[in-house]
Amino acid sequence: MTPNLLLLGGTTEATALARALAEAGIRGTVSFAGRVARPVRQPLPQRVGGFGGIDGLVRYLQAKQITHLVDATHPFAAQMSANAVAACTTLGVPHLALTRPAWQRQIGDNWINVPDIAGAAAALNRPRANVMLAVGRMHLAEFAPNPQHRYLLRLVDPPDAPLPLPETEVIVARGPFSEADDLALMQTHEIQVVVSKNAGGIGAYSKIAASRTLGLPVIMISRPSLPARQEVGTVDQVFDWLSHASADRGV
Ligand code: NAP
Repeated sequence: MTPNLLLLGGTTEATALARALAEAGIRGTVSFAGRVARPVRQPLPQRVGGFGGIDGLVRYLQAKQITHLVDATHPFAAQMSANAVAACTTLGVPHLALTRPAWQRQIGDNWINVPDIAGAAAALNRPRANVMLAVGRMHLAEFAPNPQHRYLLRLVDPPDAPLPLPETEVIVARGPFSEADDLALMQTHEIQVVVSKNAGGIGAYSKIAASRTLGLPVIMISRPSLPARQEVGTVDQVFDWLSHASADRGV
């Protein structure tokens, strides 16, 4: 039996892994939550939509005869990641996470660390400012208690419903972004505070580097905690794991 992977995607790293798997002729399916209107085209078959919790994922893994699961979701996709660990443990399916290290504060950074989105919203309980709010569409309502700010939002898709914040400017764009572009964007919009998840990786780092250059405070949201799991940081390490895990299982 040859390996048949389920790759939980939605990140640049997942797309890079999908390309490498396709080039190596390894069978697999990339899974998206369905949050964006046009997901990046994948070189492997893809599916879209939730599985229906842990039980739904268990049923999917069984029905599709998945031999290995690689979780390459965003570090803030904590529910999906926890479900993947639970379902794989239940079935004894080998599980690996492809992750990227969190960003570390550097000299010149002015970070206000907060534990979660609620903490970021609480940190904005201050007089009016021009805020670059880079947390994604799904969390905007949590900032509604602070309507006094002018918010700059960068979203992958144009909003399809009224925004829960009264004063916004929306930029529709998909990363990766460059530091020069973000510097110009922040200067044009006279940004005074930036709110960001500690996503790690390079694609979203430009706003952090630009904030440092401009001396702006960044309300930095820490990553959610996840169950214990095996993690690697590169596509090559996924291939090493795949060959060992396959040998162990006789696949
Ligand atoms: P989440 O809170 O952990 O997931 C909520 C539910 O969405 C999951 O329980 C699952 O539904 C479904 N889901 C999530 N990722 C999925 C996937 N790759 N394939 C199939 N179903 C998935 O995650 P999220 O924050 O909504 O993120 C959703 C997706 O967007 C992830 O793939 C992630 O990589 C990507 N993304 C997230 C962020 C972020 O900041 N959170 C940023 C960029 C990209 P069921 O329980 O029904 O299976």
